[in-house]
Amino acid sequence: MINLNHITQHLAVVRTRITQAEQRFGRTPGSVRLLAVSKSHPAAAIRAAYGANQICFGESYAQEALTKMSAVTDLPLEWHFIGPIQSNKTRDIAAHFAWVQSVERAKIAQRLNEQRPATLPPLNVCIQVNVSGEASKSGAVPTEVAALAHTIGALPQLRLRGLMAIPAPQRDFEMQRAGFRVLHGLYAALLQNGYKLDTLSMGMTDDLEAAIAEGATLVRVGTAIFGERAM
Ligand SMILES: *Cc1c(COP(=O)(O)O)cnc(C)c1O
Repeated sequence: MINLNHITQHLAVVRTRITQAEQRFGRTPGSVRLLAVSKSHPAAAIRAAYGANQICFGESYAQEALTKMSAVTDLPLEWHFIGPIQSNKTRDIAAHFAWVQSVERAKIAQRLNEQRPATLPPLNVCIQVNVSGEASKSGAVPTEVAALAHTIGALPQLRLRGLMAIPAPQRDFEMQRAGFRVLHGLYAALLQNGYKLDTLSMGMTDDLEAAIAEGATLVRVGTAIFGERAM
């Protein structure tokens, strides 16, 4: 279990990594946002990170997320759902999150659209793409992305913001970059087709520099902030 005092230091290290990668790869300073992935860590860890100015948090399991959210309702946090979406969880996700980054099929997009409460602004959505072929189970295959973007674009309670991927882990920096480059190519094609997107969500604890090199606008970091997960 993580020492809460370390979270502030860990966040500072991650922010420095992001700033240095922006400089090294010619990215605009401040163009890469940090999503703190708090799955499997307690509400107290989220509160500690908020104390160090972290606003955006990512969770992968709906029930776990709702329990933690109810313990930090006093904080103005922005919640992103980043895990696999089961049909029976779409109602909770649509009601409690500002973003869903893991939309990979039209049926789930339609349910989220129907179940997003009318009192809330449209749900921000990223299409999750499988850029690693058989090495990954999650995400739309690249050839499905255009049709899925078209479907989401017609749903009034959803707002398509961009693409997300979790490439298969690679040790080699150039191999890491190659996976992210595939996602960037799909993103560029959607922009070319007139979609107004601003979010390329890619890069985690072990590969965020390679993702920033390839144009990430949002990196999702858990372990480097909160420590190893128990599960
Ligand atoms: C868990 C998770 C992360 C964070 O991974 P770390 O390696 O701990 O930084 C990022 N994105 C998704 C979708 C995750 O499920």
